[in-house]
Formats: sequence, structure tokens, C-alpha cells
Amino acid sequence: MTTTAVTALGSDVHLIDTAMSGYDGITAAYAILGERPCLVETGTATSARTVVDALASLGVGAQDLATIVVTHIHLDHAGGVGDLTRAFPQARVVVQESGAKHLADPSRLMASARRVFGDAMDEVFGELLPTPAERIEAIGASGRVDLGGGRYLEGHHTPGHARHHLGLVDSASGDLYVGDAAGLYIPPDGADPLTGLAPGPVDAAHPGNAADVAGTMLPGTPPPDFDLDLALDSLGRMRELGSTRLLFSHYGPITRVCESLERAEEELRMWVGLVREARSEQMDLDHTLALVRDRTRERYARLLQRPEVAAKFEALSSSVANVVGISRWLERLERSERLDAAEKQES
Ligand SMILES: [Zn+2]
Repeated sequence: MTTTAVTALGSDVHLIDTAMSGYDGITAAYAILGERPCLVETGTATSARTVVDALASLGVGAQDLATIVVTHIHLDHAGGVGDLTRAFPQARVVVQESGAKHLADPSRLMASARRVFGDAMDEVFGELLPTPAERIEAIGASGRVDLGGGRYLEGHHTPGHARHHLGLVDSASGDLYVGDAAGLYIPPDGADPLTGLAPGPVDAAHPGNAADVAGTMLPGTPPPDFDLDLALDSLGRMRELGSTRLLFSHYGPITRVCESLERAEEELRMWVGLVREARSEQMDLDHTLALVRDRTRERYARLLQRPEVAAKFEALSSSVANVVGISRWLERLERSERLDAAEKQES
């Protein structure tokens, strides 16, 4: 049996470190205990054993898990769905509707992941196994997951990072499962496990991303779906949900909800601005990356002082993937602007 790290977050919520790629503290799953135990996110297929063991340590046996919810179908979030539906034969799977068919038949999703990740695929992610369609429940714009005893998760479609992304609010705790819709969050050293905040005063000399107390935020803007307008709309919608704590899949809780969502927006706008600037100067990918690194060095100064942490998160969501995802979106935007202009000229 592998040893697993489980952290109680209050309100019967437990963070499970899925130990993705052997790294601790980068990819989380969450167990919500109660009448109808629920797992939010599975981690990768290669993490399935770790997650099953963690649930067992929380007293959730093979027949007990009622629901598995994934915020989206990227393999670091949903890769273990097939293994876990086998380990928990009573569990139903909840997913946004445009992701549902890929959990029933993962062949296309796996083929495209293999093209992107090549040989690293098996080691990092493993194989997403199919789940019988009748065990999958799709959520459209919104929908509920019953946790028993009157408690529920309210799912909200929050596209931008991916088309098929859901944010979920816990009716009892007020927690908002943000998936990757607000990017990646790196807690500060010595953070309180319940609030994500480090002890000590906020350093007024380092506002925003360099704040001592509130960790670092990085954008998650991968191809092929990233869309800035959709991502900003989703952040706006999440701000209106009135949640009391954000639970990041990468990684952990933070109680500064409004401030964190605002920082997520700032990150997106800044990265898109830099890639836009690079495109207008017709820079290639290497020069664009150099520009982004150069201009963000001060912003992530505190993170860069912890190179081992920076490396973990770079492995998870690389600057290259972010730049390529933003570039693809800008290309789509420019194409549709050209089409609009051409139509105007014709009419
Ligand atoms: Zn992710």
C-alpha cells in the first residue's frame, strides 16, 4: 500500500494529495464525506491507487462512494475516472456535457494527448479507461450533485481554460471547487492548511502576486480551448457565487476569494498582453517565451526563490503550453475579425 497524504479541511472535506508524477503538493482530489460520499477530481490514472487508498483511510469502502465529479476532462483531473468507477461500482460520474462522451469513449482524447505528450504520456498520465455511458451524468449550464442530508454541490459551466469546465459550490461549506478556471495557485511556505495563508502581515511593498501571505498565482491557458473572453466571463461568474473559500486542484485552499479571483484575472490579461505584443513584433516561440520570462521575473520573484516548487508547477502547466494556447486563441480571433471585415466590405 502506498502512503497517502490526506488533510482535513473542515466541513467533512478532505484534500487528497494524488502525488502526480511522484510530486507532492501539485495535484489534489477532494473527498466530501457524509450520507453520499463524493470525490471531486480523480487525478491521473496513475494516481488511482493512491486515491483509492486515501478514500479507504477515510472509511470510504468499495460500495460507499456515491459520486465522482470532475471539473473538466483533462487527464490530470479525470484520468482516473475509469479506474475509480471500477473500484467503486456504485459511484456515478458527473461531468460537463461536452466532456461526457470522452469519458464513455476516451479513444480520441487519448490519441490527442499521446500526440502532445509523446513518450511521457504513460509515465505521467497513464490510460483513461472507458466508463459505461449509463453511469455518467452530464451537467449543462448548471446542475446539482446530491451529497445527502440536504447538502449538495451546485455545478456551473465555467469555460475558458477548457470548453467542458465546471466550477462547483458546496451548499454547506461555501467552498468553490475552481478546477483550473482560476489558473494554478501555489501556497506560500508554512501556509495554514485550512486557509492557505501564511502567518504574518501582508507585505505592502509587494502587492499582488508577490504578497507574502497569499502565495503565487499562475495562469493555465493551454491549447486547444483557451479563450480569454470566456475565461474572464467565468471568473466574473465565480466572483458572484459568494463562496467563502476556493479549493484549487493545483493546489489547495485559499480563503481570500475575491482577491484571488482578481489576481487570476490580472494574470490572464498580463500573459495575453505579452503574447499579443510578441505577435505584433512577429517573434517566434523562443523569443516570446524569453519576453514572458523577462517581464514576469519580478512578479514571480518569491516563487523563483523556491526553484524546486517553480519546477513542479512548470512540469504541470508549462510556459510553452500557456504561450501556445494564447497564440491559438489570438489566431482564431484574428481570423474571425478578418472574416467580419470581409463580410462588411461585401455588404
Ligand atoms: Zn489541471
